[in-house]
Order: sequence, then structure tokens, then C-alpha cells
Amino acid sequence: MADRTEGPILRLVDLFTVHQAAVPARLAAMSHSHSDRDDVVTRFAPSPSGDLHVGGARTALFCWAFARGRRGRFVLRIEDTDRKRSSDAAALGFQKALRWMGIDWDEGPMPDGSICGDHGPYMQSQRLAIYESHMERLLEADLAYHAFDTSEELDAKRTAARAEKKAYRYDRAGLAIPREERFSRAAAGESHVVRFRTPDAPITITDEVLGEATLPQGEVDDFVIRKADGFPTYHFAVVVDDALMNVSHVLRAQEHFNNTAKHIVLQAALGFEQPVYGHLSLIFNPDGSKMSKRDKDKAIRAAVKAASLETPPEGTITREAFDSWIGDKKSQLDHDALILMAEALDVTLPEINVADFERSGYLPEVLCNFLSLNGWSPGNDLEKFDNAFLAEHFDLTRVQKTPARFDRDKLLAFNLDAIQAMPEALFRERVRAHGMRFHPDFMSALTTEQFDLLADASRERSKTFDDLFKSNGWLLLADEALTWPISKPVRKAMLKGEVPGRILLEQASELLQGVEVFEGESLESTLTAWAEVHCEGNLGKIAQPLRIAVTGGPVSPPIFDTLAMLGKERCLARIKGCLAVMQDVANSA
Ligand code: GLU
Repeated sequence: MADRTEGPILRLVDLFTVHQAAVPARLAAMSHSHSDRDDVVTRFAPSPSGDLHVGGARTALFCWAFARGRRGRFVLRIEDTDRKRSSDAAALGFQKALRWMGIDWDEGPMPDGSICGDHGPYMQSQRLAIYESHMERLLEADLAYHAFDTSEELDAKRTAARAEKKAYRYDRAGLAIPREERFSRAAAGESHVVRFRTPDAPITITDEVLGEATLPQGEVDDFVIRKADGFPTYHFAVVVDDALMNVSHVLRAQEHFNNTAKHIVLQAALGFEQPVYGHLSLIFNPDGSKMSKRDKDKAIRAAVKAASLETPPEGTITREAFDSWIGDKKSQLDHDALILMAEALDVTLPEINVADFERSGYLPEVLCNFLSLNGWSPGNDLEKFDNAFLAEHFDLTRVQKTPARFDRDKLLAFNLDAIQAMPEALFRERVRAHGMRFHPDFMSALTTEQFDLLADASRERSKTFDDLFKSNGWLLLADEALTWPISKPVRKAMLKGEVPGRILLEQASELLQGVEVFEGESLESTLTAWAEVHCEGNLGKIAQPLRIAVTGGPVSPPIFDTLAMLGKERCLARIKGCLAVMQDVANSA
């Protein structure tokens, strides 16, 4: 672990004293900032808009593991100062997603509405007075100043910079106003922002993952730390919170790397100790594109194009919504519209958010295992491990600098392996819980016995918990609602051959009528004996027509279980319906 008292902090302090001799270089170190910071404290600080994306989930997992492996503390802080984009529902969604992944936190809001920890509140929107007190310290010490530039003035300067092909930097126009005047105009309520007086010196960022980078002097201008609406900017709030919450290690997405320059100059000015930084690379799709929620729209757009659709599928979205979505390739459908379109077009939406993976029936422990391999590895070719192992072994030295590629096939293979390794009873229990949550209609249509039979019969073919529900819709259909699409395998099993399957099916139907105990074992012995005589011992010759007849298609759990789950009456009704359809097809051939 890097020594937090050495390195960039000292260098920055020097820079302040050398280059800003006219103003106090920094405020005195805050009394709390050393004594109680010996422990490792990490934090996950999501902005609660939308759902928890896999990238964010991996950040949270790494922060959690880093703290847990060092007997430190893990804080959840909700960065909701952008009031337009934030919602309490999203904040709760984040908490639930983390909990589902097996990630717990020592401080922060809890899903039951309670709050844990001594450094709260943990919602930034409730910490405005705290930010204000630190803002005042900077203003008083002339390390920050009120700036009254209008947006027109700033826009004109930006445009001028662009015309000269120069990067725009704030020109400190605000500082030309005498100090007293600034304070009195601000006190009189004139619209203004507060800008940080960035030291005139290069800024060096030291990062445990990416290494060191130095931004030349002038690269970071006098950035805004309090907006005109009185809210602190992200930069200011994050610095105050990390310090007051005693955060020792900031692990976060690489997109914040450049922001770190602003954070470390602010920390130095406020007298806060600098945490250790580690910036985590992005997660990409295998094709190198950024894994984003837009991928869902992309999948639907491709299906719309393939079907040459010019109007929305019935029962989905309005014509106007469809046209404007088609017209603007960057626009996104909302969650409900995406689901409706995906169902109508038979598209499987790519999972992007943690909640998507949960709905698709991935095991949380598998998702965590797999996510942690996206950007980290324990070495020795070890790939399968649980969160406890991760906590014990996670360190920053093995975190990759380059973007990870999210290999969905591998994730699915991991999930399949985990399901196959699961004891039967546990599979029943977990797949039932998944059904209760996501397929309540399916669950209420089956008795406990039927469901247990289905679970046992489906485990071997299940790559996810959802497979059972996706592939067994035939169980729920009313017998008269079942259809038998004539696909190639159906034609082969039913209509081809010396004795076509439909003829055998007719005979077997009579046999089934006489079966008293309609259960797996007795059905197996009856049908096997029958196949000896009528199918030259080839059970498949009757199993497949039976399967098609009772399920409508050529794939289902083992045939005896399939029959037993439906029960005698329903099997016979379905066979009758199927025979009539096959007769028609045979006649018209
Ligand atoms: N709230 C920021 C985000 O969601 C994270 C800030 C940080 O980790 O410093 O991107």
C-alpha cells in the first residue's frame, strides 16, 4: 500500500507556497484528517439516475473487496446533487442491486430506510450546510472567489478561443473585481458562481493503477466549485465527503482520472489528506464498443431493420414515438417500451445493468466472479472463486490498465457450470425464488409438486434460472390454445418414415388411456415395453411425437416427466388436437 503522507501532497504543498506566495497556500490541516485515518476506508459513490450498470457494479465490488480484505470499512454515498437526474427510487435500486450481489456496506443508507455510520448524512443533497462551511473557509482565505461573469460573456470567450483553435480556459476575469466588492455583490444576492483559485503550477496525479501523470500549468483553470443555484459542484462535494468520511482509497471509473487533478488541488487547499487513487478501466463489448445501455436500442433497431418495419409492431409504442426514435439514432426508448418492442420482435435484449442480469436468471455469485475477472485476476490461471476469496486476494497491483472485454459466452458458461454443480434441492429453491419474483403467473399456474418435477427435469438444460420459464410456456397454455407449428423436426417426427410418428402416436394414445398411475416411473416402464413391440425397441420413435403433441415443439424436459407434469387428461386432450392437425397436414400433402 502506498504511503499516503508522502508524494504528491508534499509536492503540491510546495507548489502552493512557491507559486501562490501572495495568498495563503492552504488551510491548516483539518484535525480529524490524520489520527483516525489509519484504517482502510473505501467508498462507492453512485449518482442515482437509472440503474446500476455492470461497470459501476464492478467498481463497487472492487471497493468492497479492497476494504473487506483489509478489515477496513466500506461506505455507500449517494451523489444526488444533480436534482434533475437523481431519484430516490434509483438510489434504492442501487442498494438493492448491491445487496443482491452480496455486497454489504458499513456506512450509508440501508435498503430498509435506516442509516448506518457516524459520518452521515450519506446523501449529498442533505449535506449542503457541510459543503457551505468548507466553501466559506476557502472564500475567506482567498483560495476561492465569487465570479459574476454572465453566460453570454463566457460563451463569447469560448467562441473566441475556438476561432483561434485554442482550448478555452477561464481567464480569471472575476479576480479583476476588488475583493470587498465581490463579497458585497454576492451578499446582495447578485447571481454568481464560486471558482477555486487553482495554483499556477503543474499538477501531478499519482494513481495506483495508471501510474503518474502531470498536467501542465494552466491545464486546470479556476473551475467552478459552487454553481449559481447554490449547489456545490461534484468536484467540491466529492473532496469534502471523501475527507470527512475518512476515505483512504478512492477506486473509481477511469473517466474520473482527469477530475482527480481538481480534487487534489482542492484537498491541498482545504488541508485535507489526499486519498490513494486507483482508476479502473472501462468495460467494453467484445467488439470494442463501450458497453452501454444504448446497446439495447441497438438490438431493437437491428430487428426493425431486418424486418423492414416502417410502423411500430402492434401494442408497442405510438407511431409518433416510433418515428422520432427511428429518426434519431441516438435516442433511447424507455424501459417499458424496450421490453414491449423486444417481445414483439422476439429480440433478446443484451443485459447491461445488474437488474438485467438478475432478471435473466444469472447467479449473483457468478456475476461477481465474472465481473471481477473483467479488469483483475488472482493469477495462476485461477478463474472460479467467490466473493470471500476476492476479498482476501484483491489488490491494486493486479488491476488491469486496459479496458476489459465483457465475454457474454463465458459468463453464460460460468453460470451453467454453477447451476450444474448445485444440489438439486438448492436449485429448486433458488429457481422457485426467481419464478416468484419474475414469473408469478407461471408459478401460480403450477402446483408445488409440478414445479419441483419441472425444476428437477430442467436443471441439466438450464444455463440460467430463467431458461426454465422461457422454454416451458407450453405448461401454462390451455390445452385448446396449444399450436403445432410444422417445422422441419416436427415434419420429420410426425409425417415421415415407413410408419409416420402420427400413426404411432394414435396407438400410444390408446395405451396412455389405460395407464392408471400417471407418473414418471410407471409411464417409463409402460412406454418402454410398448416401444419394444411397436418401435423395434427404439423409444425415440414414440417419445418425439409424444413430446411434440403435448408441448407443441421438439424440445422439452425428459418425456416421462413432461407427460407426468401435465397429467393424463391434459396429455390426451393435447394428443387429440395434435392428431387432428397432423391429419390435415398429411391430407393436404
Ligand atoms: N458520482 C460519480 C459517478 O457516479 C462517482 C464519483 C467518484 O467516484 O468520485 O460517476
